[in-house]
Amino acid sequence: MEKTFLMVKPDGVQRGLVAEIMGRFERRGFQLVAAKLLQVSQEQAERHYEEHHGKPFYDNLIKFITSGPVFAMVWEGDDIITLSRTMIGKTNAAEAQPGTIRGDFAASTRLNLIHGSDSPESAEREIANYFSPDELVVYTKTIQNWIYTG
Ligand code: GDP
Ligand code: MG
Repeated sequence: MEKTFLMVKPDGVQRGLVAEIMGRFERRGFQLVAAKLLQVSQEQAERHYEEHHGKPFYDNLIKFITSGPVFAMVWEGDDIITLSRTMIGKTNAAEAQPGTIRGDFAASTRLNLIHGSDSPESAEREIANYFSPDELVVYTKTIQNWIYTG
């Protein structure tokens, strides 16, 4: 089963959208593996967004992601990286479709509520940036047979 790292950004926590956002992944049938509210440190932020280092929006992005608590999560499911990115919606606010998290709730490209890993390599790196291995809970839900096979 594939894992991904999802994070409600500081704007989503401030706007009270944690449960709304979590609920969408829960209702889609994905399995929650770990979750916590935390304050992103400067070092974590720089590791998280290292691919954007040097871009015009980088400094503001680091300021934004460290500006208040975030809700960090690990979720698991078949092809979850692709499916969750589709649920999140496009980065550019003008392109985020209604029905997606950003398209339904975000009006800004910068303040766009949620982060989701974009590849298995990013997922592994991002999970390790926020969680220790013993925080990832291994368990079985019998309902999975009704979601992935049949
Ligand atoms: P994501 O994977 O969809 O979150 O998008 P990216 O990895 O391309 O960018 C990371 C984050 O940087 C985005 O979620 C936005 O918060 C921010 N961002 C991306 N592009 C821009 C931009 O052109 N301007 C500004 N101000 N912020 C941006
Ligand atoms: Mg990205």
